[in-house]
Amino acid sequence: MSFPPVVILGAGPAGSTLAALLAEQNIPVVVFDDEKRPDLLVGESLVPAVIPILRTLGIEDRVAAISRYKPGTSFIHREELEMHFNFRSVEGLLPTYAYNVPRPQFDDLIRERARELGARFVMCRASLKAKPGDENHELVLDDACLAAAGLNAQPVFIVDAAGRARISARTLGIAAKTGSRRDQAHFAHYENFDHPFPEGQVVITYHEFGWSWRIPLADRMSFGVVICADQAERWGTSGKERLARILAEEPRLASTSKLARRVTEVFTYSNYQLISERGHGPGWVAIGDAFGFVDPMLSPGVFLAMEAAVSVAEVVIRGGLHGAASLGRGLEKQERDMREWITAWKELIDYFYDGRIANFYIAGNEMMRKHPGIISNFMQRNIERRLASMASGGTTRSTWNRHFLTHSIKWLTTPSHSAKYAVPGS
Ligand SMILES: Cc1cc2nc3c(=O)[nH]c(=O)nc-3n(C[C@H](O)[C@H](O)[C@H](O)COP(=O)(O)OP(=O)(O)OC[C@H]3O[C@@H](n4cnc5c(N)ncnc54)[C@H](O)[C@@H]3O)c2cc1C
Repeated sequence: MSFPPVVILGAGPAGSTLAALLAEQNIPVVVFDDEKRPDLLVGESLVPAVIPILRTLGIEDRVAAISRYKPGTSFIHREELEMHFNFRSVEGLLPTYAYNVPRPQFDDLIRERARELGARFVMCRASLKAKPGDENHELVLDDACLAAAGLNAQPVFIVDAAGRARISARTLGIAAKTGSRRDQAHFAHYENFDHPFPEGQVVITYHEFGWSWRIPLADRMSFGVVICADQAERWGTSGKERLARILAEEPRLASTSKLARRVTEVFTYSNYQLISERGHGPGWVAIGDAFGFVDPMLSPGVFLAMEAAVSVAEVVIRGGLHGAASLGRGLEKQERDMREWITAWKELIDYFYDGRIANFYIAGNEMMRKHPGIISNFMQRNIERRLASMASGGTTRSTWNRHFLTHSIKWLTTPSHSAKYAVPGS
């Protein structure tokens, strides 16, 4: 290949989405992937804001064919409280559904689309070298990668989409802010898991040890637990042991999992929140988890990864790659936007962790009971719609909605009551 292409490191949702969008505009793209993907991957529950991106890529039908339709999410609380959210309430703003996807196959569909549009994939581990002081290229591909891809010149632009490997940040020694939680997640797939909820509904359950997820897939249930660091030992020494004991002993799970049979290995994840202090520089940008990620309770990760790809594609397509200053300005704004997304999701997720959303939900119901009528009804519907649109990715960043939520929570709830609904360690 003679014309230097854009090089993307990592063919997860972020990397392949960007590859497809650039290739569609006839911009040469080479994607490196190390093929270290395990058989199962987290990131199975999507939010409705992903759907417009799947439509832009032209793959919604293919995704629907391998996935389970997701109508909403329920939160089951240890204090006998149940909160059921349905995406119908985002009608007019976003599609009123999402999908629960088998992640490796989902990633393959985006890759396949990028290939159809002309992106080239090189299956090998990529690494970078720093080029301090170079005003156009702060990072370059190492020689082995250039050779593996048959490139005879350095790329004009490098995109780090390598997820938690954070190749660019590690190469340049860029620090990151991490969250305070030190939870551990274990998960696996099961057959014969009973699901007494609407078909496809994702269920998050609050426990004394942390929380668990149930994500119904087309032919199985993805079940996972997120355990606070100081409670992990109590449930066993391995992920396998912990999942089995929790399913057998937790009252909110035992009745639905009597016949459940684990059909995969158990996978373990740790590290729940991270944001790089810098996400771009001359000739490069980091997107998706490589730039930052938030706690997965509300499932925004794949959306954030794909949204970052869409916004970098816009910068490149609109501004071109050859004006370093205009590219830099575009990337600066893109990074600001992604920081804002991450901050807004974190704010919302914190409300679910520290018990304020549960307390708020109860206060709303109490208001309806004490003062039934049109005004209470209207307020309740309004609050539910705002919350659903924020948790769907539609208005998560809206300043007005964020203020509205903060003030409504302050006005309607008592802080001391929230503590009893909090995830331990919040
Ligand atoms: C416990 C847990 C549960 C989660 N649940 C959800 C959920 O339900 N819904 C959701 O939306 N998100 C969820 N997430 C988050 C989601 O999994 C990630 O945000 C998402 O996968 C990020 O996509 P990405 O493309 O940035 O990175 P990745 O998906 O990590 O893709 C990175 C790719 O780069 C490749 N790579 C790495 N290093 C190199 C290298 N040196 N050279 C070449 N290739 C390389 C990897 O093999 C991989 O293919 C969860 C996260 C956790 C921890």
